[in-house]
Amino acid sequence: MRLLFVTSEVFPLIKTGGLADVSGALPTALASSDTEIQILLPAYRGMLAQCSSPKHLGSLQPFHDIRCELYKTLLPGTNIPLLLIDCPALYDRDGGPYHHPLHGEWEDNPLRFGVLSKVAAMLAMPNMLQAWQPEIVHCNDWQTGLTPYYLKQMGSQAKSVFSIHNLAFQGNFHADWRYRLTLNLEDYQAEGYEFYGQVSFMKSGLFYADALSTVSPTYAREIQTDQFGFGFQGLLQHRAADLTGILNGIDTEIWNPAQDPYLPAHYTASALSGKQAIKQALQAELGLRQQADTPLLGVVSRLTYQKGLDMLIEIADALLGSGCQLAVLGSGEASMQRQYLSLMQRYPGQVAVTIGYNEPLSHRIMAGTDIFVMPSRFEPCGLNQMYGLRYGTIPVVANTGGLADSVHGGEINAQGVPGKMTGWVMADNDASTLLVTLQTAMQVYANSGQWQQLQRQAMQQDVSWETSAQHYQTLYQNVLSSPKA
Ligand code: ADP
Repeated sequence: MRLLFVTSEVFPLIKTGGLADVSGALPTALASSDTEIQILLPAYRGMLAQCSSPKHLGSLQPFHDIRCELYKTLLPGTNIPLLLIDCPALYDRDGGPYHHPLHGEWEDNPLRFGVLSKVAAMLAMPNMLQAWQPEIVHCNDWQTGLTPYYLKQMGSQAKSVFSIHNLAFQGNFHADWRYRLTLNLEDYQAEGYEFYGQVSFMKSGLFYADALSTVSPTYAREIQTDQFGFGFQGLLQHRAADLTGILNGIDTEIWNPAQDPYLPAHYTASALSGKQAIKQALQAELGLRQQADTPLLGVVSRLTYQKGLDMLIEIADALLGSGCQLAVLGSGEASMQRQYLSLMQRYPGQVAVTIGYNEPLSHRIMAGTDIFVMPSRFEPCGLNQMYGLRYGTIPVVANTGGLADSVHGGEINAQGVPGKMTGWVMADNDASTLLVTLQTAMQVYANSGQWQQLQRQAMQQDVSWETSAQHYQTLYQNVLSSPKA
């Protein structure tokens, strides 16, 4: 099976969120099967220099006035072929993949990701710069949403799979973009790429792809409802038979407490003492009081409304009144950043807040804290709760999306810790339930026997990509054997 995996970010080259982790790990997990996979990514600033001996495959002209060069290399640290689209006018810039360093989103994002989408479709045509031709193009999120449309427009034989990693980001742009992006005008309609008077990359992906997937079974159900569908619920209900929810895994090599190079000590489910040493070192690093028995709560997250971290601010006084500590790493909405920084000022030695993106510190927080807090309002899959499981940092999560699918909640009673329990899933997604659930978790923390049992169960839960990769394999086989839409 030959598969082109199209993405706007991939770990370790460029990452703003979970999509990068998935794009790095899923192809690696699939490559051990009989799937031949190539990844396609824009060559953002400095990227060609980071990759080993990129080979120039040739030029492509996705639109009449845009010419780009295609390079082939390997995704660093793997044997996976990586195709990079070199188009300096579009991608060689300061700032993030989607954002100007200061002024919000890049204004030409429709063109930047229109080019990514179009090049992906072109590469699925015969003899396009290389003999290798994909049978399936796997597209990810709105940045690749026009690919299924272009495949159809160009009459490609390749099948398309479109994966939703977050329906909240949709790539909706002014209707005039249909000219610049060479979209057929007759398809600018409800049965096409139009969405409430705009050109929608997400709508195009959802409408034209042969198969749809999203990153957890619960999110697959949720996005068909008014509450979580962001206006696409009708279309998703209509396509329910083509929509699969496959829970993400995590890279258990990179996220391994027994050998994580970012950690000052190491541990396993059967020898947990290293975790205590990491906690001590983390308290020192972050200026928290050296208290071994105080429960330390961790947060690593984008600081946004989606992540529900305003609820943690709301209950902070009551929570911190019970004596726990809190370590937060994140960046996002300015007002939320300010609120967290002021919380740190009010609770010196008890609350540590680091604003920014810091991969090494994220590993140390994952390992050095006791409880991981993730009260998201919606969460397509979420990775941090799985890192928490792997590191024996017990997750307390909202009852939504991939959080509900990956954390096995339960109640500890006279019989002790239920055999399957690996964390707490909030009964209701509101601030008072978050407080009660965290207090319950902290009570159990005080019982070290029960807590260690919970930690061992969490660390032994299978969060690897293996099972998920098998589900994707089945999805690809099904889409290949079904007639073209
Ligand atoms: P999302 O993609 O919605 O942001 P996920 O939980 O799926 O959320 O993935 C977030 C990824 O980004 C995880 O790998 C997490 O560790 C990482 N991350 C988020 N914020 C930070 C940060 N400030 N520093 C380091 N890593 C972060």
